[in-house]
Amino acid sequence: MADVAVELVLRSTRVITPEGTRAASVAVAGGKITAVLAYEAEVPAGARLEDFGDDVLLPGLVDTHVHVNDPGRTEWEGFWTATRAAAAGGITTILDMPLNSLPPTTTTDNLRVKQEVARAKAHVDVGFWGGALPDNVKDLAPLHDAGVYGFKCFLSPSGVDEFPELDQEQLATSLAEITGFGGLLIVHAEDPHHLDAAPVVPGPKYADFLASRPRDAENTAIGNLIAQAKRLNARVHVLHLSSSDALPLIAAAKAEGVRITVESCPHYLTLTAEEVPDGASEFKCCPPIREAANQDLLWDALADGTIDCIVSDHSPSTADLKTSDFSTAWGGISSLQLGLPAIWTEARRRGRTLEDVVRWMSAAPAELAGLSRKGAIEVGRDADFAVLAPEETFTVDPAELHHRNRVTAYAGKTLHGVVKSTWLRGTQIADHGTPTEPTGLLLERQN
Ligand SMILES: [Zn+2]
Repeated sequence: MADVAVELVLRSTRVITPEGTRAASVAVAGGKITAVLAYEAEVPAGARLEDFGDDVLLPGLVDTHVHVNDPGRTEWEGFWTATRAAAAGGITTILDMPLNSLPPTTTTDNLRVKQEVARAKAHVDVGFWGGALPDNVKDLAPLHDAGVYGFKCFLSPSGVDEFPELDQEQLATSLAEITGFGGLLIVHAEDPHHLDAAPVVPGPKYADFLASRPRDAENTAIGNLIAQAKRLNARVHVLHLSSSDALPLIAAAKAEGVRITVESCPHYLTLTAEEVPDGASEFKCCPPIREAANQDLLWDALADGTIDCIVSDHSPSTADLKTSDFSTAWGGISSLQLGLPAIWTEARRRGRTLEDVVRWMSAAPAELAGLSRKGAIEVGRDADFAVLAPEETFTVDPAELHHRNRVTAYAGKTLHGVVKSTWLRGTQIADHGTPTEPTGLLLERQN
């Protein structure tokens, strides 16, 4: 094997590498992958062998869209519980969203507060997005220098008062500033005028809620964002795409060379408006889960690359805020621990492969954020892995979730794909759904 002292060899008949799936032995030293060798390769003296047989060894997932809410709204979620849930679900890196915590990540001082809180609690590696607000343009360059991975903004109300949205003029100002230092703007794209014009009918009917968040709100906001990105040659990312009507716009922009990427989420790709029971606000999020026909087009867009990646948008609250009135219930779906099996279950039904899932949930999000040490089983990368039994099934029992609040839209569903263990820089961090020690590091943007 290599001349560095190999500490660990992970062996499987199915290792997912950038070149495809094959039987292999992966050598690890100093927390990094030092070689990907033949399955039968001799194990060096002193190295520990972990043989997973036919269970699949895949790169640890990278979830760039997690609302940890810590400090400030820790009754909703926190770094301890969120990163334990991530570890149990095969995720080895998360990026925390800048809002719902108090303070929000909108100044370097606030970033330091959040990092201090996260440091001792992180079971997986944790990085941070900054926030772009109407009044913090001067804070963006210092935040970039301090290591945030990019900046999130809203174009319509965010749901919390301390994180106001940008109007089109403010968007242009922030985007010009961010582009000036080579940064990335990630956008909650719903247009406020279309939302204002939509009927709001209080009550438990999902159809009423869906009508209050029309596709046009997304389509218009994305169209405006593309125009701004094109004018400034800016790099932008559309968060949590739900409306398939926006796909032709996005595909055309990409074909033209506009620097735009797009994510969608497990709930848009595995749940449908038709199945949401009235009053079941664990299914409420913004933009909303739409119809089955819309979902089919989102999957087509993943296949052709119009949608780049799948991330959770894990955005929990306490159970009492999940009332049966869709117009006032907290909007956010919890799925951090369940994203991989939820997506794999639907992907396999649609004839997609586990390699596809790894690209969408590990390689592509790592690339989005510039996490060059993450996202692939390849020499030189961090030794981050999930071990998955893709043919095994389980039924979602909220009691087995490590999320602080166990409200979930997936309760009772039978899913394919059991995460047997998770490994972070060569250390096992979860064993059959049970997280171990908090060995996660705080990450800062390198490039
Ligand atoms: Zn979000």
